[in-house]
Amino acid sequence: MIRRPRRHLLTLLVLAAACTARPAPEVTSPPAPVADASGDPIVAERREILMLAALASSHAGLGDPVGHDISAVIAWDVEDTSRTPPFVIERNRNFEKQGDMFHAEINTLRAAYEHTRDGALPPGATRKQRQDLYAKDLVHTTLFTTLEPCPMCATTITMARVPRAIYCMEDPGLRDPISHATTVVIPSEFYRRKLTQERSRIAACERANTAMWSAYTAANGSLNITTYLAESGPAVFGPGRTALACWTVRHPENAALLRALQKATGAATCKAA
Ligand SMILES: [Zn+2]
Repeated sequence: MIRRPRRHLLTLLVLAAACTARPAPEVTSPPAPVADASGDPIVAERREILMLAALASSHAGLGDPVGHDISAVIAWDVEDTSRTPPFVIERNRNFEKQGDMFHAEINTLRAAYEHTRDGALPPGATRKQRQDLYAKDLVHTTLFTTLEPCPMCATTITMARVPRAIYCMEDPGLRDPISHATTVVIPSEFYRRKLTQERSRIAACERANTAMWSAYTAANGSLNITTYLAESGPAVFGPGRTALACWTVRHPENAALLRALQKATGAATCKAA
């Protein structure tokens, strides 16, 4: 006698909740948060404009015959909000170098090592001194890339001791066409190195990723990602370039970084790309 009314009330509550609940968002078009997840809003803004810089770099290079339209950025100490993070930007150079391995991430890693070779070593430095110097060069960096790292790059990023990689678009060649789940197993931890990969949730990347999967479906799964990027480059990268060029910093700690990123990518004028 006592339980039945309670159960009835529960049923009513569940039904009421179901009636008022919003429909679940589609998997391929989730809501776009303002910035990448981070407990610190200054860091979140940094991650967003660093990813926008990778997109703007690809936009600036559209039509450039040096390689595929994929760019990457490596930045040091993104989480240290007391200083402006240094960064390097590079792109895919497969055509220029005439090989299949000159990917954006690999070229950016090389640029990052060169960035840190500042002549700090004395002439005649020992083998140990030399190794100690480079072994810690990239342990406090974050890599941002416009396309999910391939197995070679993901492994090399891990080998170089970069602990975090954030990518904009998923690579359908590495994923199930329906669920979009990863189908290629890439080791993310070895030799006491560990890489965490995340997909960027910024608006420009959510839109680019959703559009790519739509094109993939329309092409019945025969979409080649590098061909797609070449053919759809302005639509894929233009919004990111515009967002960077027109960005107003929410945190003054990021003003110098924004200016440097705009300058490095040529995204200094706020106008539709
Ligand atoms: Zn790669």
